[in-house]
Amino acid sequence: MNVSGQKMILENLDLDLSYTIEEFELINKQLKTSSIEIKGQPIDLFELNENGKLIPMPQVTVEFEAVVGEIARQLGNWNVWNRQDGIITTSQGGYDFNVGGQRKIDAPDVAFLSREVYDSLTKQQRRTFQGPPFSPIFAVKVADISKQSDFERLDFKIKNDYFAMESSVRLAWLIDPVNKKLHLYRRGMRRYPWGWRDIGGDDVLPGFTLEVWMIDEVIKKELESGSSGSSEGQGLSEMQELPERSEPSEMEESPEMSEPSEMEESSEGSEVSEESSESNLDCPKCDEIFNNYYDFMKHVESEHIRRRRRV
Ligand SMILES: [Zn+2]
Repeated sequence: MNVSGQKMILENLDLDLSYTIEEFELINKQLKTSSIEIKGQPIDLFELNENGKLIPMPQVTVEFEAVVGEIARQLGNWNVWNRQDGIITTSQGGYDFNVGGQRKIDAPDVAFLSREVYDSLTKQQRRTFQGPPFSPIFAVKVADISKQSDFERLDFKIKNDYFAMESSVRLAWLIDPVNKKLHLYRRGMRRYPWGWRDIGGDDVLPGFTLEVWMIDEVIKKELESGSSGSSEGQGLSEMQELPERSEPSEMEESPEMSEPSEMEESSEGSEVSEESSESNLDCPKCDEIFNNYYDFMKHVESEHIRRRRRV
């Protein structure tokens, strides 16, 4: 396909037409550098249904993507600390769920794939949507499901697509962080309304627990709906705090920050200084001493859990 042909495809999209997998890949690739609007909604990603029809994925709001990030972070900690060595994808990681033998491409907001499966994939499978289909063993959808029709659409998608007979998904969660709802799906079982409490990964993600209070921390404040008058104070108090953190004097010190002698200076931040236990963190596995949790955790992760390869 020549360049002008490529341009044509994005300009003349027709959602009633069927597209080939090559065209689908090209369209999503082009959407990485340009965007289109459909019915007033900015679109930067399509999914593909079993009839080759493009399903526009509206851009997700910051609030929901922040929750996606938090879930991926918790799962990522488990993945590394528990030495799972698996693969985690987020909202643009499209899988072919192969529903009834038909290609059906969908990106769960968070998904987990075992290392064995990932390593067994061909280059074609990793880099294109061609080749034999594969799917994750765990999938999460994050959405506002307060509207019954939205809930039913996602509930159907999870049951029909994620748990299609040909798919590998064994565990799925539908999470609504704003309305504090979590639905649990397991292969061969009915959907279970879990409520808003911590949930474990069972034998699919052994030892993993999603802590919902950390998701609450991400969302935190209840936003006042539509009250522009009272919004004045809302962001202001936070904005006033900002300049303190980025004072130029601190920036100049930063290149030498890793020296232990500057321990007291670097714990200048409000929370750090209160927590005296954070200074002198002795690694229980070696002789190294740290003065903040971040450096300590990074050390434990790279030296004792993952064992960084030295060149
Ligand atoms: Zn150590």
